[in-house]
Amino acid sequence: MTKSVTTPAAARNSPSPPPQWEYSPAPESAAIGRIRDRYQMYIGGRFVDGRGEDVKTINPATEEALAAVSTASIADVDDAVTAARTAYQQTWSRISGAERGKYLFRIARGIAERARELAVVETLDNGKPIKESRDVDVPTASAHFFYHAGWADKLQHAGFGPAPRPLGVAGQVIPWNFPLLMAAWKIAPALAAGNTVVIKPAETTPLSILVLAEIIAEAQLPPGVVNIVTGAGDIGAALVNHRGLDKVAFTGSTEVGKQIQASLAGTGRRITLELGGKAANIIFDDAPLDQAIEGIVNGIFFNQGHVCCAGSRLLVQESVADEVIDKLRARIGTLRLGDPMDKNTDVGAINSAAQLATIRSLTDSGDAEGAARWTSPCPVPDRGFFFPPTVFTGVAQSMRIAREEIFGPVLSVLTFRTPDEALAKANNTPYGLSAGVWTEKGSRMLGIASALRAGVVWANTFNRFDPAAAFGGYQESGFGREGGRSGLAAYLDTVDQEDS
Ligand code: NDP
Repeated sequence: MTKSVTTPAAARNSPSPPPQWEYSPAPESAAIGRIRDRYQMYIGGRFVDGRGEDVKTINPATEEALAAVSTASIADVDDAVTAARTAYQQTWSRISGAERGKYLFRIARGIAERARELAVVETLDNGKPIKESRDVDVPTASAHFFYHAGWADKLQHAGFGPAPRPLGVAGQVIPWNFPLLMAAWKIAPALAAGNTVVIKPAETTPLSILVLAEIIAEAQLPPGVVNIVTGAGDIGAALVNHRGLDKVAFTGSTEVGKQIQASLAGTGRRITLELGGKAANIIFDDAPLDQAIEGIVNGIFFNQGHVCCAGSRLLVQESVADEVIDKLRARIGTLRLGDPMDKNTDVGAINSAAQLATIRSLTDSGDAEGAARWTSPCPVPDRGFFFPPTVFTGVAQSMRIAREEIFGPVLSVLTFRTPDEALAKANNTPYGLSAGVWTEKGSRMLGIASALRAGVVWANTFNRFDPAAAFGGYQESGFGREGGRSGLAAYLDTVDQEDS
């Protein structure tokens, strides 16, 4: 840290850039990631070449190629499902829950042991700040395996009936925003419940799950229990439509989720969908405002806003709106955008050129529909996919920026006068994944939280995740839960799926 430039109060009253502590660069070493020239898929306990074309995965912060990745053909998907079926029948469904738990513990420890390497790989491949991959993605992924390891031998005592059975083979498709963490969310409960899996990562972020494959191999998980096929959406479609599956779990866009649900209708296969969101973050006038500002910033700028449960619609009580927006701009102006490998960076790179184009197009619609755009004065690198933190005020509920998932560092601000108006606006969305409420009044908190149509409601906080807490949505945010006891139920054939 070298110097501070000006005081926060002075900055709020002046149009010049807000105060910045200037830090010396503190880059993590890319060498820790041990990125190889080429990666293979993982099927039947072996690293194998796919019969698809190799693709290059790039570093979105530099646009440079990181590594070549072998990709699957439809025949490879078939091989992977066959390997998963064989493993299910010959080993995984035959061993005890306590034995399954030991493997999960080993994987959890393997992730923890290689945490620094995984964080670097994730940041290089995804563009997220190293402090987030280091402090959130990787430890939470490890925690997911630890948590589910503990469940593996207790399923018959968990209120699922005396003999809950696994479903069989699960096909899982995950997105690019939390590549390792989403892999953990999918694989850990499936294995704890006794299923085997075939999983496909997003084409733009395959590396961390392929390092996880090494950890799985080192843990000596029986061959075929976890299979990883790489490729684009066509391989995802081939996987979820494969007749050899008993269960499909998908996280990604609502559009693709709807296609999957339509194509699986009538097949009898179990399905869970974790889709998009447009969460309301509601600030009442009695809220602890400085704390709320931190929650708003975390809610929308964590992971560049590439978060399905991001607090992308800020609902502020009119009487404090000016004060909140003032404080918010001052705080956002202190966020550092740039090299994701620098430990001081708050906002990293957008994951792909395509996602950057989506963000630009949706924010342009905000201008065209009459909202007022404010952009952080932070410098933006010339190279790489970057979008500065942006706030729209004067947003009407009908605008696209209030209705559609932007999936970027863009906040839409709306105001309200009464709790009923806040609730009506918060629920005026086709989604229903998450919401935040900020107030000192306990009764109001409970009343609003219970009337919000959202799977997760945070009270005086935002974006808190725990493996023991169920996560999932309503309406176009999908159905089914991940995490906690309800998340296990999604991988079990049970007589009672009620929450205890
Ligand atoms: P997608 O839904 O297209 O991608 C999610 C995963 O599904 C990826 O692995 C993708 O493969 C795969 N996939 C794509 N098409 C199919 C298909 N027909 N059948 C099965 N699998 C398929 O999301 P995008 O990456 O295109 O992002 C688009 C928008 O979706 C974002 O702007 C955001 O709004 C939202 N989104 C929401 C997420 C969430 O967590 N809820 C996560 C990601 C995106 P591949 O990427 O290789 O093409």
